[in-house]
Amino acid sequence: MKVAGSAKTLPDLAAIDVGRLAGVGDKALEALSGVGVTNLLDLVTYYPRRYLDRTNQRSIGELAEGEEAMVLAVVRNVKTRRTRQGRALVEVDLFDDSSYLRVSFFNQAWRSRQLQEGTQVVVFGKVERYQGRRQMTNPVVDLVGDRTGRIIPVYPQSDKAGISSSQVATWVEEALRRVTSFVDPLPVEIREPYDLVGRDWALRQIHAPSSMGAAQKARVRLAFDELLRLQVALVLRKRALERSSQGIRHDVPGRFLERLRRQLPFSLTRAQQAALTEITADMAGVYPMHRLLQGDVGSGKTLVALGAIITAIEGGHQGALMAPTEVLAEQHYAAISDLLAGFTLPSDGTLTGERPLSVALLSNRVGAAQRRRVAHGLAEGTVDVLVGTHALLGEAVEFHSLGCVVIDEQHRFGVEQRAALRSKGPGAAIPDVLVMTATPIPRTAAMTVYGDLDTTVLDELPPGRTPITTIWARGPLVEAEVWERVRSESAAGRQAYVVCPLVDDSEKVQARSASAEHERLADGELAGLRVGLLHGQMAAADKEAVMEDFRRGGLDVLVSTTVIEVGVDVPNATVMVIEDAGRFGIAQLHQLRGRVGRGASESWCYLLGSASGVEGERRLEALEASTDGFELAEVDLELRGEGTILGARQKGSNDLKLASLRRDKQLVGKAREAAFALVDASGSRFVEELPELAGEVSLLVDEVDRQFLFKS
Ligand code: ADP
Ligand code: MG
Repeated sequence: MKVAGSAKTLPDLAAIDVGRLAGVGDKALEALSGVGVTNLLDLVTYYPRRYLDRTNQRSIGELAEGEEAMVLAVVRNVKTRRTRQGRALVEVDLFDDSSYLRVSFFNQAWRSRQLQEGTQVVVFGKVERYQGRRQMTNPVVDLVGDRTGRIIPVYPQSDKAGISSSQVATWVEEALRRVTSFVDPLPVEIREPYDLVGRDWALRQIHAPSSMGAAQKARVRLAFDELLRLQVALVLRKRALERSSQGIRHDVPGRFLERLRRQLPFSLTRAQQAALTEITADMAGVYPMHRLLQGDVGSGKTLVALGAIITAIEGGHQGALMAPTEVLAEQHYAAISDLLAGFTLPSDGTLTGERPLSVALLSNRVGAAQRRRVAHGLAEGTVDVLVGTHALLGEAVEFHSLGCVVIDEQHRFGVEQRAALRSKGPGAAIPDVLVMTATPIPRTAAMTVYGDLDTTVLDELPPGRTPITTIWARGPLVEAEVWERVRSESAAGRQAYVVCPLVDDSEKVQARSASAEHERLADGELAGLRVGLLHGQMAAADKEAVMEDFRRGGLDVLVSTTVIEVGVDVPNATVMVIEDAGRFGIAQLHQLRGRVGRGASESWCYLLGSASGVEGERRLEALEASTDGFELAEVDLELRGEGTILGARQKGSNDLKLASLRRDKQLVGKAREAAFALVDASGSRFVEELPELAGEVSLLVDEVDRQFLFKS
């Protein structure tokens, strides 16, 4: 085969079928494709998940009870039987010259076929003692074969696909032998300051390291490459947008902002001031703003957003605010109408030469006639601020001169949707865009998920907030205290939320269970209180009426589904009860909790029910331990991995095989810095000047990102 010869780029490798390697027959091909390996690139990036370092290998004889250990041993004796409960039990004796280790597998009958007498295996697990003997239960098993060498790579194996670590090792060895060298796409100016080893060395050492240190260096280089490709795509997108687009220069004196500030009953926090300074500077510039506003629940993002919108209006344009739910859109509408009451704009059509600033709502609740009026006003330019849900993106919505768009998103709006909104600007001009995240995400994740945006963080809460006490109420005794608290708080004139269990994804089922819970509580634990009900299946007008009633204090308790999750703002509410809390994610729990603690009174959040599994326990304990959204976001990332955070938006994250947003924080920052350096130095000639890197980005990064690569 023509694998040998010239140095290979990653696209070259991707073009070579694994079937062309010696020793890879039909059966192997099928097995390999079962783990996603079809070409040489897939194979050489099928990285070891760990290494067996023989220089400090443990012998069975010296293992102590309770420790986690990895041992290399030979299978001696295999017995299969059934336990009294009818579970399959495979018991295997392993021997390593020092002693025997008994290994038990429950419900894994196939182990008796996998572990034949005489097979070399590596097992990894916790050492227990049973009837005076060392043993492990359901350990991780790797078939490494009788490989020699000091450090043995252990590959992820798939029992389903029928692939063992030792087979993968053999194929990878063959591939590395046939490829005489790998092209390094990184210029030395980047490699040196970041202390990165060469690509060729890295790819060889990661599979067959000469020392554990070498494996580590190799990993750093290859992980950097993954992050760099993603960052290059993001930075290219950012720069392309800036270059190709024409912004609106909102270069205004800032009278509206000043007026808003003066009429607030409190002063802006330092963080809010700083954010507004950054935003108005962006808006005054020639490039369209493309900024992410991060801030914890209750940090006051809405005011900052409003500041951006009125800056656009002062310059004679319009603003739009898009919210993730109807309830929230309606609340924003009410708050903004309130805050902007009394603002006026110059107008030729009136005697006074002025007209009131006009705020409109577009949601399902709005009837057809009103909808038409709003549409007309938007097209004419007599409606200045539009608040709404996705409906805002509708084709029928046309603006006279949209100058600023704020998207209050909850990972719900994609790149494409943002692009659609942007296209609603006047003529060829592109409105400024501010994206707000409802929940904080870790810095490294923000750099990766929102890497094409500039970022502002509100790292401060308004003063005078009383901290929220969070209690995970484990068991009925504590639960009784919870309802007691709800009653005593309402007796004191304050209010409570009760969030119903997440029984099902279906809104219908969800609504039914909320109704049932409402009835149960109203007749039981909360009898005598004014208990309202809110769920997604209610008519929009009814929802709004209930919310309004609660806001005005006409209800003591609101039993609700998660429709109240985002942004609902009733400062008099001091108790949040979340039923079956173990079924919610960290971010969602934090959001829900953020509905209380908004006023001056002490607040409580009660998490009811048991957690499912260790991870669930850690989630609820994290909530009990911290009210800092950024800290919780880190825990969340650690527990769930990056897939869930990235998956929503960044398909290119498939390329992250080695790099981890939680373990490689510094590397993420370096890759981003390097990407800026490379993209900016080459300007629009990136593809010509760094063809190999461009080829890799194009091959491995998401299509949405890729389209910007070749845009000049
Ligand atoms: P979030 O960042 O969660 O969207 P909001 O914008 O809803 O937060 O603000 C939460 C509450 O804090 C609102 O009631 C708002 O009026 C109030 N608030 C905002 N900024 C300040 C401030 N600087 N001082 C006091 N209260 C503020
Ligand atoms: Mg908000």
